[in-house]
Amino acid sequence: MSRVRVITLNAALGPLDYRLPHGMVAEPGSIVIAPLGPRQVIGVVWEDGSFPDAETVGDNRLRPLLSTIDAPPIPAPLRRLIEWTANYYLAPPAAVLRMALASVSALEGARSVTEYRATGKPPLRNTPKREQALERIGERQGLVRELAMIGGVSDAVIRGLVKDGAIEAVEVSLDTPFPVPDPAFSPVDLSPEQSAASARLVELTRAEKFQPLLLDGVTGSGKTEVYFEAIAEALAMGKQSLVLLPEIALTEPFLNRFAKRFGHEPVAWHSGLRQSERRRAWRAIAAGSAMVVVGARSALFLPYARLGLIVVDEAHETSFKQEDGVRYHARDVAVMRGMMEQCPVILASATPAIETRHQVALHRYEEIRLPARYGGAEMPEIFGINMLESPPERGRWIAPTLVAAMKETLEKGEQALLFLNRRGYAPLTLCRHCGHRFQCPNCTAWMVEHRLTHRLACHHCGHVIPAPRECPECHADDSLVACGPGVERIADEVKALFPGARTAIVTSDTLWSPAKAAEFVRDVSGGAVDIIVGTQLVTKGYHFPNLTLVGVIDADLGLEGGDLRAAERTFQQIVQVSGRAGRGEKPGRVFIQTRLLDAPVIKALLSGDSARFYATETEGRRIAHAPPFGRFAAIIVSDTDATEAKEAAHRIGNARPEVEGVEIYGPAPAPLAVLRGRHRHRILIHARRQIDVQDVIRAWLGTVQWKASTRVAVDIDPYSFV
Ligand SMILES: [Zn+2]
Ligand SMILES: [Zn+2]
Repeated sequence: MSRVRVITLNAALGPLDYRLPHGMVAEPGSIVIAPLGPRQVIGVVWEDGSFPDAETVGDNRLRPLLSTIDAPPIPAPLRRLIEWTANYYLAPPAAVLRMALASVSALEGARSVTEYRATGKPPLRNTPKREQALERIGERQGLVRELAMIGGVSDAVIRGLVKDGAIEAVEVSLDTPFPVPDPAFSPVDLSPEQSAASARLVELTRAEKFQPLLLDGVTGSGKTEVYFEAIAEALAMGKQSLVLLPEIALTEPFLNRFAKRFGHEPVAWHSGLRQSERRRAWRAIAAGSAMVVVGARSALFLPYARLGLIVVDEAHETSFKQEDGVRYHARDVAVMRGMMEQCPVILASATPAIETRHQVALHRYEEIRLPARYGGAEMPEIFGINMLESPPERGRWIAPTLVAAMKETLEKGEQALLFLNRRGYAPLTLCRHCGHRFQCPNCTAWMVEHRLTHRLACHHCGHVIPAPRECPECHADDSLVACGPGVERIADEVKALFPGARTAIVTSDTLWSPAKAAEFVRDVSGGAVDIIVGTQLVTKGYHFPNLTLVGVIDADLGLEGGDLRAAERTFQQIVQVSGRAGRGEKPGRVFIQTRLLDAPVIKALLSGDSARFYATETEGRRIAHAPPFGRFAAIIVSDTDATEAKEAAHRIGNARPEVEGVEIYGPAPAPLAVLRGRHRHRILIHARRQIDVQDVIRAWLGTVQWKASTRVAVDIDPYSFV
């Protein structure tokens, strides 16, 4: 009788035991199909005795496994990572496993899939929905479901278009091998500092041992070229490398740089891939033939056959923290993966997080510094503009000093970048007559005006309405006013100030695909853009030698209602955006508009004394027992019914444990009290470093019951407090 333990992809279920039929071979890691009630589920065989608290079923009640799937097994280091992640973030193992088996089509035997694309012929019958779908789909190709998502319509609309001949089916062959990047293709000349740094990284890669490392280099110091040499070494050793990037929009410039160095692009992994592309990438990664993979955080859980190097670029970015589903931090999990795989993990950043610096101070992470820019470029000069003393005219947002600097820059034929971390035209629309404010019906949030698309949108749930013509309350004519600026409004002001200048707006609304990002890079590099107006999306990764001026429209924005990382985040963001100025031969200038010239973070930015800023911030955290000196966790209780949410939160709150070194705050209504129609309450747990906060929460929540409609999410090491 052989019994096997299986984790299925059903997150509601724990590990299950099955009988291994005679003649079937299924080692730990094997991907199998198992019966579950009347259905069949995909699962992975796990070691005997793993998950000791799983319910055991008598031998006579075991059902036999149905079959094994013809795909490489999930390797042992990844199984250990899945266990660790599930345990640390209090997530069901199945939910973590799902990230490893991220392409169901990769597990199917078929070698081709049917995808769909527009034929270019108009449909026989046109409707606004059909028109919208075709316009958004453009030249893209994918499954019906994918096209429906891109088009913002139902599957039925797409199927209707297929029937009408406006969209056609195409057979796509899968699994053509990826070209292998060539480590000797075109090595670049490195500066002496870069050479020394890369020599150390190469040495670590060769050692095939776990070693986390902080590559701490100022903006423009050429960190990418340095870690490229470690990738070259891994390639020469026949090992795979993984590079994590925080934004899909950064993938495109990265792919280009990589192709210049190695002759071929790496394999990309992100949410924008079509099913067929996902399958091809997944199989090549699992087979060990995809040698270099670049991706968003989800690439971290893929089943690499021979992982030899992990790089987390822009490692300070908070977008590495996943905020739904399994709430993991990709930077931290990357370090764990390096430990499981016994390979080095490089965290590259010009503005490392305090958590990472602390690991260096404890000598757990090695540090390599690149204190100077590559090619002798100077760091930009930074000026503060006091918005209380020399503000712009009423109804404008760019101060006269910055306008003058922009004028000089444009006259020299150079480029300028204005940074404001707010999408859309205005964050709030209100009626001047009756005071009505446009609020999202699903969230505690204002509807943000997007003038480019003539809509108001909620940035939390995606709810959109057409731009209103009149007030829905008092019906007064011409009474609606836009309050505050977003990037679109700044771009309007720029157009009014410099009618001849060519502007580009860069936000996730305009750069929503790698192709759009590529177009933007081409336009700016080719000199087709004079002024860029952008959100945090433009703050990093881009290298435009002719860009010499950066203006920060509102440096105080990130400090409002600040959580524990507000000052650090503001510092990082402004250093990063400043880092776009003067990266070539021409020197750069940065102007920071602020009402808080005396705030420590603004002072640090102006003086360039980052060491002192970090020392003060770190000391503040130490005194407050905040991370990395103490630990936070949050419990978020939500329900579509306000009373249910509140009652469940209070039941959980009343069951709070008394544990020495643990303080529990709340429950209290979340600052974002309603999100996507769910009423939310938060409990904050603050614990001393040495406390196993996961165990405390596990035991605590194990004693409380709640209704099926109520969701109780645990956020370990939270980055968001709303
Ligand atoms: Zn009104
Ligand atoms: Zn909303």
